[in-house]
Amino acid sequence: MSTTVENVIIIGSGPAGHTAAIYTARADLKPLMFEGFMAGGVAAGGQLTTTTEIENFPGFPEGLPGPELMDRMRAQSVHCGTRIETDTVTSVDLSKRPFRVVTDGGEFLAQTLILATGATAKRLSLPGEEKLWQRGISACAVCDGALPLFRQKPLVVIGGGDTACEEATYLTKFGSVVHLLVRRDVLRASKAMQDRTKNNPKIQIHWFTEALEALGDKTLTGVKVKNNQTGATEVIEAAGLFYAIGHEPNTKFLDGQLELDETGYLKTVPGTARTSVKGVFAAGDVQDKVYRQAITAAGSGCMAALEAERLLSEEETH
Ligand code: FAD
Ligand code: NDP
Repeated sequence: MSTTVENVIIIGSGPAGHTAAIYTARADLKPLMFEGFMAGGVAAGGQLTTTTEIENFPGFPEGLPGPELMDRMRAQSVHCGTRIETDTVTSVDLSKRPFRVVTDGGEFLAQTLILATGATAKRLSLPGEEKLWQRGISACAVCDGALPLFRQKPLVVIGGGDTACEEATYLTKFGSVVHLLVRRDVLRASKAMQDRTKNNPKIQIHWFTEALEALGDKTLTGVKVKNNQTGATEVIEAAGLFYAIGHEPNTKFLDGQLELDETGYLKTVPGTARTSVKGVFAAGDVQDKVYRQAITAAGSGCMAALEAERLLSEEETH
């Protein structure tokens, strides 16, 4: 075990983690980042490494591939002085400071922690899904909906929560029609979102309907579905299939030491990055179930870094 006590350890390497790294490194806190090794099934660099073109991150008017954006963020973190270990954190001890961080490679101590481990979109593992992932199938309508592939084409959204309703509504801007597949006869979404969805003439809700297979060769051409009451099957022609069946925040390694909300996201004090343990901050999708964008993750990474810096300097002067 290392006996050095780090000022700050950052866990996770998406836009939130790298922004926190850039800010804490520039504040001369010499941050140590664990970027993960296929943690939560995602490569170091996070969810954007799994996508093609990013067109909504400011500063890149022509857009750029997700992996390139993350390479650039990593290079900037290193340039500012961040030390990066390609290890996954397996457990932490938050019972006292300095906090203990355990990885596959050793044990480390830190005065403050920034948790930026992201979230993983749930998938259905349908036949055809692997082949057609990002070739018509996506788990983020806001990210991918505007692609030319989907313009004026029929689209399918699966889910009945706020995300599904919001994404179906958003997709009506691009698709010719949006089929919303709901496995029960009710939407789980808030009343306002339900009303908006039900009243949108471009959204067709299919109640009691489950997807069976994603169809297509090079890109998606349709979705085979089943009515789970009658057993009847049909093929819905579609160029796009969007999963909106929830996300799983990557919090297992915390082993219940921090407060989570009812859906498993890390709780932060509203308007701050502070968690339920002093000195532990959270940023990005691991604490955000509403916006879930690279730029909001980066913004909250900045907040976490500034708060860690303030806490350390307050403690130094007292
Ligand atoms: P993530 O990007 O999820 O990164 C977290 C990282 O932490 C991962 O690398 C993970 O492996 C690592 N990690 C997890 N657990 C551990 C651990 N125990 N130890 C060490 N490391 C760990 N947003 C946009 O703004 N524009 C887009 O165009 C866009 N496109 C998208 C396309 C797809 C297919 C997806 C899935 C998402 C897209 N998003 C987009 C959303 C965006 O990717 C996320 O909002 C953003 O990446 C969240 O950043 P984050 O830093 O919170 O975490
Ligand atoms: P939810 O967990 O609320 O909803 C998931 C939906 O997917 C449910 O309708 C569920 O069906 C359905 N589902 C789950 N698994 C499957 C499956 N295997 N096959 C078919 N359907 C499935 O997730 P959301 O992402 O919608 O929302 C998460 C949280 O974020 C909620 O608290 C929500 O209110 C909040 N949110 C708020 C927003 C806002 O305020 N603007 C925007 C987006 C999210 P069933 O109902 O049958 O379980």
